[in-house]
Amino acid sequence: MPAKIIDGKFYSSQILDEVRGEVAEIVKTGERPPCLAVVLVGEDPASAIYVNSKKKMCADVGITSRAHILPAQVWEETLLLLIDKLNEDGEVDGILVQSPLPGHIDEDGVFKAIAPGKDVDGFHPYNSGLTAMGSDGGLAPCTPAGCVELLRREGIPMAGANCVVIGRSNIVGRPAASLMIKESATVTVCHSKTKDLAAVTRGADILIAAIGKKNFVTPDMVKDGAVIVDVGINRTEGSKKIYGDVDPACMEKASRMTPVPGGVGPMTIAMLMKNCLSAYKMAREKEKEDE
Ligand code: NAD
Repeated sequence: MPAKIIDGKFYSSQILDEVRGEVAEIVKTGERPPCLAVVLVGEDPASAIYVNSKKKMCADVGITSRAHILPAQVWEETLLLLIDKLNEDGEVDGILVQSPLPGHIDEDGVFKAIAPGKDVDGFHPYNSGLTAMGSDGGLAPCTPAGCVELLRREGIPMAGANCVVIGRSNIVGRPAASLMIKESATVTVCHSKTKDLAAVTRGADILIAAIGKKNFVTPDMVKDGAVIVDVGINRTEGSKKIYGDVDPACMEKASRMTPVPGGVGPMTIAMLMKNCLSAYKMAREKEKEDE
């Protein structure tokens, strides 16, 4: 790996080792391990691959997983009933509904139906609210939390740094901005309506790109010595290769940069395992308080 690369595979395996160790300790005490329920609706091949890799990762760290596979035509009510059942199930700690859901289902409504304490994706308004408030005790969305964890483990100073986030989606850009504010960075959020984007991004000590457009960020948009976190996963038709939102040529200007693949991607799934363990621990603490 070139020295400038922020190695997401390395840091994600550190996190997975930590989760594996904690789960092994829990099991040693005679308690059951954490359990993640993954719900997949329809037969989208990419979603099926994601669900399989989550199941494999659970097995790898000692977390139990259950897959609930529903047909693409399933009624929304049936899906919501399943979520209710999983919410009530004392043996399930985390619930993940794989997106995208078929068009006839209100995805936001489904995410809102998941009990906040089991919302390991961190998409429920309660968890989004805690993330926006900079509060502990919630479950932050895995991808932006993975970005911040990468920066922390790489030893990048965040307090006082000028951080520019490109993208304002609820799953990446917006929570990434909140998490960086929590780290005391000075944060600017850019989006499709931002005027003179390059002028803004050139002020960034830390640039987080979550746009969804292949090689969108070019070297002229980057300050010398900036740290770049590339969240993008972009595919071109007929090829399995994935591309980030940042032109690899930006490496020449950056002091450090995440690669695609091998940067933020592996961190996302590691943070999911971490959230699952956190959900388990929070539920056990609540049980104790209620006793
Ligand atoms: P999204 O489409 O919901 O949001 C994209 C954002 O980019 C929007 O807020 C939009 O305003 C902004 N944008 C679009 N065009 C722009 C322009 N010309 N100038 C400035 N801003 C512009 O996408 P998302 O869900 O936030 O995902 C972003 C990228 O991150 C995608 O490539 C996605 O595949 C990837 N992603 C990766 C992971 C991971 O695990 N690595 C997880 C989630 C998403």
